Amino acid sequence: MFDFLKKKISGFVDKISGKKESTFPSSIKEERVKLTISTHVKSLFSNEIELGENDIRSALNDFELELLEGNVALAVAEQIKEELRRELIGKKVKKNELQQQITSMFFNSIKSIMLENTGIPIIEQLDEIKTRPIKIMFTGPNGSGKTTTIAKIANLLKKNNYSVVIAAADTFRAAAIEQMEFHGHALGIKVIKGKYGADPTSVAFDAVNHAKAHNIDIVLIDTAGRQETNLNLLNELKKMARVINPELKIYVGESIAGNSVIEQVGMFDKELKLDGLILTKLDCDTKGGTVISISKVTHVPVLYITIGQGYEDIEKFDGDKIARNIGI
Ligand code: GDP
Repeated sequence: MFDFLKKKISGFVDKISGKKESTFPSSIKEERVKLTISTHVKSLFSNEIELGENDIRSALNDFELELLEGNVALAVAEQIKEELRRELIGKKVKKNELQQQITSMFFNSIKSIMLENTGIPIIEQLDEIKTRPIKIMFTGPNGSGKTTTIAKIANLLKKNNYSVVIAAADTFRAAAIEQMEFHGHALGIKVIKGKYGADPTSVAFDAVNHAKAHNIDIVLIDTAGRQETNLNLLNELKKMARVINPELKIYVGESIAGNSVIEQVGMFDKELKLDGLILTKLDCDTKGGTVISISKVTHVPVLYITIGQGYEDIEKFDGDKIARNIGI
């Protein structure tokens, strides 16, 4: 999943250690990365090198561009670059340990970025919520994996002995209701539906009433999505949130969508006050930058990641594990 970023770290190390020239678009010779002559001469007589600003400036600029290419958000790429710069300048590094040291600096940097907004997975939040039924509303664009993710959460809840009902309140997209019913049937979970074009809030309302009447613990509410943020949709979702008053509002977005998912989360959070994110399709994400940076930029914590199409392909977000996957 993080091959892209791993490759970029080794490229960065090669540039700093002088093995490879910078590809930063600059024809100015001085900007080229190779150790500056004085650093280079000193390093001939010692197995340690002390890196100066000039040794790493251009390599860091390259690295920042490469992080952006890997879907790391700008603010986060800048922070990583700054931290690496601060750590590296003036530091005596054993030549044969350069790779390991820089890798672990990068690891610490992204780990602290990811842990800034640690979320508590839904399943661990439920004990604290005393109301019944607990309503969880899922939002996000079409195709992001929202329906499948709701089924995965339903499966997780059921395995943890919660009773669940699903509201098929995406009454806009063709086949959304049938798809939800398909999952409900496979998991043995009741799905409350309306007609296509029906008011989604009324479908959610019916599901809440069903849960009250049958002592069901949790109502999972699917909602419509559009690829572009759409004012009507946001108003529809705000209305649902006002009427249903969900305990949790979750945004489901594809990690492969990069900056566009970050922008949309910002917009949805402004309008709806999100409680958490689920990032989907990390198994298809060859870059990995979104999962590193989304919480830092949006201040909305990632609660889960999904890694495949099966009901079990969901994991709670573990920043430490992700950092370790990239780091070493
Ligand atoms: P929705 O339109 O947001 O409800 O999206 P769906 O739940 O219908 O998912 C769209 C497609 O993405 C389906 O083919 C899902 O099987 C697939 N999908 C969902 N989550 C994942 C995931 O974590 N990994 C992969 N590879 N595919 C996924």
